Amino acid sequence: MVDLLPAVTATWQRIEASAREHFRRAGINEIRTPLLEVTELFARGIGEATDVVGKEMYTFLDRGERSCTLRPEGTASVVRAAIQHGLLSQGPQRLWYGGPMFRYERPQAGRQRQFHQIGVELLGVADAESDAEAIAIAWDLLADLELGGLELELNSLGTLDDRARYRAELVAWLEAHREQLDADSQQRITTNPLRVLDSKHPDTQAVLAGAPSLHDALSPESHERFAQVRRGLEALAIPFRLNPRLVRGLDYYGHTAFEITSNQLGAQATVCGGGRYDGLVQQLGGPATPAVGWALGMERLVLLLSQAAAKGAELSQSAAPDLYVISRGEAGAQQALLLCRLARQAGLIAERDASGAAFAKQFKRADRSGAPWAAVLGEEEAAEGVAKLKDLRGEQAERRLPPGEVVALVKQSLAACGRQP
Ligand code: ATP
Ligand code: MG
Repeated sequence: MVDLLPAVTATWQRIEASAREHFRRAGINEIRTPLLEVTELFARGIGEATDVVGKEMYTFLDRGERSCTLRPEGTASVVRAAIQHGLLSQGPQRLWYGGPMFRYERPQAGRQRQFHQIGVELLGVADAESDAEAIAIAWDLLADLELGGLELELNSLGTLDDRARYRAELVAWLEAHREQLDADSQQRITTNPLRVLDSKHPDTQAVLAGAPSLHDALSPESHERFAQVRRGLEALAIPFRLNPRLVRGLDYYGHTAFEITSNQLGAQATVCGGGRYDGLVQQLGGPATPAVGWALGMERLVLLLSQAAAKGAELSQSAAPDLYVISRGEAGAQQALLLCRLARQAGLIAERDASGAAFAKQFKRADRSGAPWAAVLGEEEAAEGVAKLKDLRGEQAERRLPPGEVVALVKQSLAACGRQP
C-alpha cells in the first residue's frame, strides 16, 4: 500500500476533476459507499470461483464475530446500496464512485494492494446504445487526458445459456489439452474455465489459438445485440478491436465486455474494464434490473500522466441538462447518442432518454428534468438526419435541424440568457 505524496496528488486531482466534469455533463451522480462490507456480498456478487474472492480479499472477523471484507471493487457495493435505499424504483440510476479498493495481490508497477478506482454504473438501462454510451464516456474521459496509445477491446459474453453451452465445449477441449496448459490454467478447468482464456501465460496463449471460440457459441439474439453495440460505437466513430478471448475477471458480466488498454504500461496494460451485468441486481436480492458499467484504475492512469502539469480543478454540482434527447427505434437511439455526444463535446449538459418508452412518457421526463430544450429523434427524423428541437420553457416554434445546428442553437440561447456552457 502506497502513500500519495504532494508531488503526485496534483495529477490525481486533475484526473478526478476531469472525470467529475465528464460525469456532470452526462448526468451521472456520485455515490459513496463504505470501505467495509459483509463478506457475503462479494462472495455472492463477484463469484466464489473468481481470483478476487478466492485469493485476493482482505477478510477478517470483527469484534462482533462477523466476517467483514475491505471492498475489492465498487460494483457490488453500489448495487447493494441502490437496492437497500430503494433507488431502483425511482427509475434508471446513473451513478459514479471513486476511492480505494483492496486486493491481496503481488505488488508491482501498476498493481497495488490498496489501489484506487473510478467507476460508472448505469442501472436500469437495457438498450445496446447504453453500452455504447458507457464506453463512450470512458473513452472521451481518457481522450481528454490526452493519453496516446489507447485501444478499446470488445467482446460479447452472450447470455448465461450461451456461456453454459460454451463452457461444456471449452472444458472438453481444455481437458484434451490439459498437459500443454500452465498449472494455474489446469486448476481453472474445474473452477472457472472461461478464465483460462484470459491466461497471461505465453505457452498457454499459444495453445489456446486452437480452442473453440465463445463467439461461435452465441445465440442469434446475442449476435444481433452485439452487432447493435458495435453499430453504436461505429456511429460515434470510436475505434475498437474485437477480442474473442476477453472474458473479464468477475462472474457477473454477460453480453458486452470491454477493456481499454495502453501500449505504454507493460504487463499491467488495462486502464479501464467493464461491461454489462444484467443479472447482478437480482442476484443480490433486488428487482430484475439491466445494467452496464466500468471501472478505471487510477494508479495506471497516474503512471501514464506522471509528467503532466497540475491543472486547476473546478468542481461543479450536477445541474439540469441543457438539452434532453428523446428517441424511438435503433436508428433514432443512435442519432440521439450522437447528438448527446456532440452537445457534451461542446460543453453542454445533455441527457438521453434510454427507456425506449412512448414519446409521451419521454416528454414527461424531459419536462421533469428541467431542461430548457428537448430534441426528438423518431424513425423519420433519423432517416432525414435531423432532430426536432422543442422549446420547453419559451415560445419558440418547433424546428427541424441537423445535430450541429441543434447544438449551436442551444448554446446560443444559453449565451443570450447569460449562461456560458
Ligand atoms: P487485472 O487483469 O489487471 O488484474 P482486473 O480484471 O482484476 O485487472 P478490474 O477488477 O476490472 O481489473 O478493475 C478495473 C481496473 O482497476 C483495472 O483495469 C485496473 O486498471 C485497475 N486495477 C485492478 N486491480 C488493480 C491493482 N491491484 N492495482 C492497481 N490497479 C488495479
Ligand atoms: Mg486482477
